Formats: sequence, structure tokens, C-alpha cells
Amino acid sequence: MKVGLITIGNELLSGFTIDTNSSWIGQALIEFGARISWHLTVKDDSSQINSGLDNTPKDCRIILITGGLGPTHDDITQNTLFEYYGIKPVFDKEYWELLNSRMKKRGRSLPEINKNQAIAAEDGKGRIIPNSFGTARGIHIFKNDIDIFAMPGVPKEMKNMMKDTVLPWIYNITKNKIHVNTLRTTGIMESSLAEKMRDIIEVSKNIEISFLPQFTGVDIRIMSSKKAPLDEAQRIINERIGKYIYGTGSDILESVVGKMLIEQNLTLSTAESCTGGLLGHRLTNTPGSSKYYLGGVNSYSNEMKINVINVKKKTLDMYGAVSKEVSIEMSKGVRKLLKSDIALSITGIAGPGGGTEDKPVGLVYITLIHNDIIINKEFTFFKDRLINKQLSSQVALNMIRIYLLNE
Ligand code: AMP
Ligand code: MG
Repeated sequence: MKVGLITIGNELLSGFTIDTNSSWIGQALIEFGARISWHLTVKDDSSQINSGLDNTPKDCRIILITGGLGPTHDDITQNTLFEYYGIKPVFDKEYWELLNSRMKKRGRSLPEINKNQAIAAEDGKGRIIPNSFGTARGIHIFKNDIDIFAMPGVPKEMKNMMKDTVLPWIYNITKNKIHVNTLRTTGIMESSLAEKMRDIIEVSKNIEISFLPQFTGVDIRIMSSKKAPLDEAQRIINERIGKYIYGTGSDILESVVGKMLIEQNLTLSTAESCTGGLLGHRLTNTPGSSKYYLGGVNSYSNEMKINVINVKKKTLDMYGAVSKEVSIEMSKGVRKLLKSDIALSITGIAGPGGGTEDKPVGLVYITLIHNDIIINKEFTFFKDRLINKQLSSQVALNMIRIYLLNE
């Protein structure tokens, strides 16, 4: 089923707000057998909204609209839609009283300006879409061969309306659930993945495979209207590139690693230089991380490296802070300090300055130590500071994953 989408808001066009609604809606629809086939962003301006409605392709079975349903002067979506579709607005006294009593309970009163929040469509021409997170309700307008759903721009409110009202309605019409799964990979380039999976992509008619690359890894999205071909494709992909796949759906690497540490009853400590604590931050993003993560030392300066985690001054003088030798001493030092089973350290040149011919920007050393085992790796990443920090933390986490996989 084809869907037209109109996102409304001056802030979307000025770039102050990123239009996350459209990407969320696009993804949410796929599973229910519908797709955005046309999308337009317009200002909070009735002539632009009208022209959007005029120009929505006729093969769109529904039009979804977000934005401009609030109480302020620039929220003109509802009025515009009522005028466009010739719907008489009806004042919903009950809802207005409900809003007022809610406010009273909080010791506040509701300004008159909010009265437009209690406007509904005349009977038979539309119905209210409830909003459990805010005062602005959505509206579902019925026309002969098209249904229009207008929702607020606030992402949380929009998502809730989609889940509770719009998606079930769409499913009721399409009766078509598309199976979607995402395999999350890291440590392999998009082109290598494509090469390894070329035959699956070319041969399979019942599935659609797409690659979604980011700096820290490539997601493989598999879609099929039937579950069996999707499972089969997934099985073959797992067989071929299983070691690069750290999770599915919305799994994140730090949680996957955390689970493995718990399963193997191991604790972890970290010593970070160029990542400035990012690795510790990521590890502690997972609830329950205190079960395995003992802590870390953000040893950014040489003094910290020497005084807190016992890196030798001689090693620093001889090899420099960004070196295999210092990285190993950092891991050894933090492991001893925090008495963890495993220690992980990162030292590198994040950039954009500070590189030399011998040691270019993006050079990073990562060391994992567990008992007598020392695994040290050298990488040369990019010129961008934040990307280098992200990548270093990703590669470090993946080093633990691969190590624990082989344990
Ligand atoms: P509105 O319903 O137009 O009053 O929107 C309220 C707020 O929701 C805006 O200030 C934005 O921060 C946010 N918003 C509106 N449209 C979008 C969108 N397409 N994507 C993400 N956020 C949005
Ligand atoms: Mg707005």
C-alpha cells in the first residue's frame, strides 16, 4: 500500500529540527505492508499545505501528516485540513472540561488559546486519534477513496498514535505483515559483505536485502513477506559471515559484550587515552553493567598514565604515548589497580592535529589482557576526531567480543 507523507513545520525547513518523524514512520510502515512512496515537507502555511494535498499522487491510499497541531498561533494544520476537505469543526466540550480538570489538579489553569485542542470533526467526516502523552489529539479524516491521518509533530506523541491507532488500522486493510530483520555487523566493509553475499542477493526472489553502512559497522536489513525465506537467508548469511554479526534488531555492541562477560563470569576494567572515557560511557549505558564493569581510568595525560596506572616514564620517553608498548602497560596497570579479569586500553591520535609521518592522525593501539594473554592491535583510522573516538571504542568492544567468542 502506497502512503503519502507530509511533514509540517517551519523548524524542519530551517534545519533547526531534524525530521526524524519521517524516517521513523518509513520504517514502521514497512512491517505492515505499507511504504512511503511520496514525501513533502512544508512550512506552517495553509497555502503550502493545500498545495501538498493537491499534489499528493493519486495512487496513495493514505496520507499521513505530522506537525502543527499544537495550541499556538503557528499551529494551523487542523483548520487548514477542515477547510480543504470541507469539514465543519465541532467544539468538544467534554474534552475541554477534561483538560481543564486535569490542569486544576496540578494547581494551574488552562489558557483560552488551548481551546483549539478541543476541536473535533463533524460526525461521519472524521474521528479523533487519542493522545496519551499530550493535549493535542490527532485526527483521522475519511474521504471516499483516501484516509488522512494528522498527528502532532512531537515524536513521542506521533509514535504513540501510530502504534495505537494508525498501524493497526493499516494492518487491518493490508492484512499483510512484512517480516523484517536487521543483522548488525562490525569489522567488515560493505563491499566485502556484498561480495560474500552476492549470490544470495541475486538469486533470492522472495527477499530484499539492503546494506546500511555507518562508520562503526554495517547493518544488513532483510525483508520478506514470508517468514521461511527470511529465516533461510539469515541462516546462510550466519554461516558465511557469522563472526562479524554481533546482534540483530536494535542490539548494541556494549550490551552484547556485557552479556558475554556475565555468561563467562568475567570482570573488565579500562584505561583510556584518546577516547577520554567513551569506552567506559558506552559500557555503562547498559543496565546491570556493574556486574562486570569495575571501572576505568581516563588517563589522558602522561602524568595520569605514570602516577595512576604505573606506565613507566622510560616507556613513554622511548616509544611515545601512542605506542604498542604504552598500550600494553596501560592495560597491565589498570588490571592490577582494579583487580579485574580482563583489561582493555586505548591510546591513539584522534586528530585533527598531532600527527607525524611515523605516527599519523588516526593511529590507535588497543590492548586486551586476560591472565597471561596479551592481544594488541594497531589501527589507522581517519582524520576526524569524533569518528576516531567512536571507531576506537567500537573496535575495542569488538576485540573483547571476538576474544570471548573464541574462549
Ligand atoms: P508541532 O506538533 O508542530 O507543534 O511540533 C512540536 C515539536 O515537535 C516541534 O517543535 C519539533 O521539535 C518537533 N517536531 C515537529 N515535526 C517533527 C519532525 N518531522 N521530526 C522530528 N521532530 C519534529
Ligand atoms: Mg510546529
